[in-house]
Amino acid sequence: MGTLNELFDPDRVAVVGATAREGAVGRAVTSNLLADFAGDTVPVNPNRDAVLGTPCVDGVADADADAAVIVVPPAAALDAVEACGEAGVRNVVVITAGFGESGADGATRERRLAALSDEYDLNLVGPNSLGIVSTPSGLNATFGPENASPGGLSFMSQSGAFVTAVLDWANDNGIGFKDVVSLGNKAVLDETDFVDHWGSDAETEVIIGYLEGIEDGREFIDTARETTRDTPIVAVKSGRTSAGAQAASSHTGTLAGSDAAYEAGLDQAGVIRAESVDELFDAAGILGSQPLPDTDGVAVVTNAGGPGVMATDAVGDADLDMASFTRETSDRLAESMPAEANVHNPVDVIGDADVARFREALAITVEDDAVGAALVLAAPTATIDFADLADAVEAVSEGLDAPIAACLMGGDRTREPKRQLQAAGIPCYFDPARAVDSLATLVEYRDIRDREYADPMSFDVDRERAREVLGTVRDRDDNRLGVEAMELFDAYGIPTPSGEIVDSPARARDVAVGIDGDVVMKIVSPDILHKSDIGGVAVGVADDEIEDTYEDLITRARNYQPDATVLGVQVQEMVDLEDGVETIVGMNRDPQFGPLLMFGLGGIFVEVMEDTAFRVAPVSEPEARAMTEEIRSAPLLRGARGRDSVDVDAVVETIGRLSQLVSDFPAIMELDINPLVALPDGDGATVAAVDVRLTVDPETLDSDDPDTAEPDPEELNA
Ligand code: ADP
Ligand code: MG
Repeated sequence: MGTLNELFDPDRVAVVGATAREGAVGRAVTSNLLADFAGDTVPVNPNRDAVLGTPCVDGVADADADAAVIVVPPAAALDAVEACGEAGVRNVVVITAGFGESGADGATRERRLAALSDEYDLNLVGPNSLGIVSTPSGLNATFGPENASPGGLSFMSQSGAFVTAVLDWANDNGIGFKDVVSLGNKAVLDETDFVDHWGSDAETEVIIGYLEGIEDGREFIDTARETTRDTPIVAVKSGRTSAGAQAASSHTGTLAGSDAAYEAGLDQAGVIRAESVDELFDAAGILGSQPLPDTDGVAVVTNAGGPGVMATDAVGDADLDMASFTRETSDRLAESMPAEANVHNPVDVIGDADVARFREALAITVEDDAVGAALVLAAPTATIDFADLADAVEAVSEGLDAPIAACLMGGDRTREPKRQLQAAGIPCYFDPARAVDSLATLVEYRDIRDREYADPMSFDVDRERAREVLGTVRDRDDNRLGVEAMELFDAYGIPTPSGEIVDSPARARDVAVGIDGDVVMKIVSPDILHKSDIGGVAVGVADDEIEDTYEDLITRARNYQPDATVLGVQVQEMVDLEDGVETIVGMNRDPQFGPLLMFGLGGIFVEVMEDTAFRVAPVSEPEARAMTEEIRSAPLLRGARGRDSVDVDAVVETIGRLSQLVSDFPAIMELDINPLVALPDGDGATVAAVDVRLTVDPETLDSDDPDTAEPDPEELNA
C-alpha cells in the first residue's frame, strides 16, 4: 500500500461498470464524476460506445487511468480488480456489495479481494462502499445524491447511508469537507490508514469519523496518538450498548468491541469521542476554526442574568472554571458600564445595553490573562440588533488568540446573524450548555496535544517459568486455572502471601505450622469459580482447627458438585485486611483492542461496586497511575477517615507487571487478581495478590512458543 495522495487526487478515473441505465449505481457514479471532477472520467463498458455522452473504453486496460471505481456485480468484481492490478491502476474504490456482509461466499470473495490487493499493492477502499469525495479537484466518486462543499474536515464513515445523510445536512449548515470516504467493509484500507494519511495532509484541519468497529485497536492507538499532535480527531462510535453492538456486527460483519474497550482505546489514542452527531460536528467545527485556550478559565459576557447563571452552571458541568478577573479588568469594566452592571464573571452588561457596551465589555474581558475562552450570551432586547452584535463579536474575535463562542437566544431573528458568525468560524447556539461544551472540547484537545506518552512499563521477569505454569492447562480438560497458578505471579514479580496447595489434612497442618499466626484455607477446584460463594474460603483458621477445616472444605465442595475435580486445599498466610484495601486488577481480551486491563475496588462485592477503570495494555506508568486515580473510591486508597494511605506505587507497579504478563502471553484470554490487597506503606511487600483466576488458550500458547511452534514455511525457504 502506497501513499493515499493519488487515491484522493487522481488525474483519470475509470468507472468499471459505467452505464446510463436509470437508477443504476454505475450511472450515479459516472454522472457525479462528470459533474465536477477537474480530471478525466473514463467510463468502462464493453457494450457501449459512450455513457452519458462520454466515450467508453472496453476494459480498464484501455483507460490509462490512475484510479478506478468498481460498480460491476459481485461475480465480476474480482476480475475487475485484477484487471486494474494488471493495468497498473493502483487506486481502487470497490462500491460493489455482496462481500463479507453477506454470508460465507461473500466472506470468501472478500478474502480473495484482499489477496488481490496485496498482490498488486493496491490502495483499495471498500468493498460495499458508497465511494469517496475530495473537494479540491471536485472528485465525487460516490453514488450518493449530494456532493460535499469544500472545507477543512476530512470524514470517514463505516456507514455509507450516514455519509449521504451527513453531506446533505452539512450542505444546509455551511459545513465543508476536504475528503470524505465511505469505508465499507474495510477489506484493505481501514480507519488507521486514513488517520495516518490525513494526519500529514496540510488541507485537513480536523479528522472526523463514524466508526462501528476498529480493525486493529493497538495500531489505531499508536497511529492516532501521533496524528493528534497536529490534527485533532473526533469520532462517534455506534454500537455502544450491548444491544447496539449486536446491531453493528450484523450490519457490517465486524465485531464491535465492548464499550469499555472503546472508551479506553479512543482515550489512549487521543481521540475526542462524541456521543451524538450534533456533538461530532460541534466539536469538529470549533476545533477547525478557533484557537486553543491557554487556561481553563471562561469569561461569560451577557445581557441577561438567568442565562448567565445557566452558562455558569454549564462551565462547572464541563469541568472548566469561571475565570476570576484581575482588579484592573473589573475596574475597567466599571468605568465603561452603568453602576447596576456586574463587573465580575459572569459579566452582566444588563438589559438596556446596546451593542457598543456589549462589545466594549467583551473586548476588556478577553484581555485578562485569566480568561482562556469567552462566551457571548445575548437575549433579544429593544436595544440590541443581533446582526450588529454579530459584527461586534466578529471584530473582537479577529486576531484574538483566545476562542470565542456565542449564544444568540431567540428564534427567527437569530438565524442570519448565526450564519454570519458561523461563517466567521465562531460557533453560535441557542443553548449556553452547548456553547460551553464546544469550548470544553478545545480544552480537551489542548490537553491531548500536550500529553506526554511514555513507554510501556517493563520489568525483569521470568518468562519461561510463566510459560510452564500456563502450560499446565494442557493437562486439563478445562482451560481455566485458579490459585494453583499463583506461581505465575512469582515469575512476574507480583507479591503473593506464602502458601501451598495440599491434599491431606496432615499436610495442611504441616504447612500451617510453618506460617506465622492464623491462616486462610481455600478449596482448589476448576469447577468452583467463586470459592466463597459455596463457603469454600475459611479465613482466620487457628492451628488446632486445620484438620477439621480441611475436611469441612472438601465436604462443601462435594455437596456443591459431587463430581467436581478437587485439586486440594490451599493453606495461605493471612493478609491484614483491617489496614488494607481489597482491589481488583484484571484483564479481558477485546476482539479489537486486545488486552484490556481493569483496575477497581475488589473483593467479593466487585460486581456490586462497579467501580472500575480500563486501559488497553501495554500501559505506561502514567496510564497505570491514572487508573488508580480515576475510580470513584480513589480517596479510599489515599487514606480516608483516619486510615493510612495504601502504597499506591506498589499498586501501579502491579498493574504494570500484569500489563507485561498479558502482553507477553496472548494465550491468556482473561485474568482476575481479586483481591489484590493494597496495604499501607511498610517494610515488606505492600500489595498481596491473594486470589487468581484465568483462562488460557492452549493453542495460542503453542503457536507463540519458540520451542513448539510450527516453523514458518517462508523462513525455511529463505
Ligand atoms: P473467591 O474470590 O473465590 O471467593 P478469594 O480467595 O478471593 O476467593 O477469597 C474471598 C475473600 O476472602 C477475599 O475477598 C478476602 O476478603 C478473603 N481472603 C482470601 N484470602 C485471604 C487472605 N490470605 N488473607 C485475608 N483475607 C483473605
Ligand atoms: Mg477472589
